[in-house]
Amino acid sequence: MKVVFLFIDGLGLGPAGKDNPLSTTPTPNLNHLLGGRDLTIEAAGYSGEMAVLYPLDATLGLPGCPQSATGQTTLFTGVNAAKAVGRHINGFPNEELRKILASEGMLRKIVSAGYKATFVNSYRPEFFAIEQPEKGSFSASTMLNLYAGLPFRKFEDMARGEAVYFDITNRILPSLGHDVPPVTPELAGQRVAAVAKGYDFIFFEHFLTDIVGHKRSPENAAETIITLDRFIGSLVQSLDLQQTRLIITSDHGNIEDLTSRTHTRNPVPLLMVGTGINLLTAPADLTGVVPLIMQILNGK
Ligand SMILES: [Zn+2]
Repeated sequence: MKVVFLFIDGLGLGPAGKDNPLSTTPTPNLNHLLGGRDLTIEAAGYSGEMAVLYPLDATLGLPGCPQSATGQTTLFTGVNAAKAVGRHINGFPNEELRKILASEGMLRKIVSAGYKATFVNSYRPEFFAIEQPEKGSFSASTMLNLYAGLPFRKFEDMARGEAVYFDITNRILPSLGHDVPPVTPELAGQRVAAVAKGYDFIFFEHFLTDIVGHKRSPENAAETIITLDRFIGSLVQSLDLQQTRLIITSDHGNIEDLTSRTHTRNPVPLLMVGTGINLLTAPADLTGVVPLIMQILNGK
């Protein structure tokens, strides 16, 4: 069985209400997967023909707001990285977290087990101009791919329809000085599904959700959620769900609570989509996602 893994930064399961854009924004595709429900805490535990939704604890057993470097390292390795370093660490992984990513990173594990894996995000040309990327300051996902020795996709791949920019639609690229044609969320979803045909494991990272959550703008939050919903809808329609499990999850909450500028301590969704899904034991927290992915790839 194949796995398509969508990592959505800063997407928690919060209560429905006027400050949760997951409940105030129309999300027909997510609603369809969840038997008419919104992606809020009230839907946690949902189990249907096409999808199951579990809440994952993202606090990692520590006080304070969960943060990206430790949350992502945990999610991408199965090791409780916040416990290992004794605190939540924001932003990009430090030396200690990089060691965990280097030895336990899921992309390396998956490749070592003989599966074909790819990171489908397109990187900007500036990234490829860096002479020693392994010494730079990069996100957990970038380090994960570097440590697996896998290639990074470029704008040229995107022009061929074989990569997707992290914002899904290329909308922010003109402001970064790149003249790249926009794509619809539907086309982006079709492209990820097309790439998935040639791989066992496909990884996509989206982090506008976290950026928008920090800014607290209801308009931007709504636009981001609508784009994400359309992308997920198209991806679900384009994947062979008999042979594929789509896993959507996050490192910590943020966008689901527009009253706060910080991350939240809400659980994050583990939304799994596929035909005839049945998960006997659901993971309880972020450490359970890598074992789940390995289990699915190994056909157990
Ligand atoms: Zn953040």
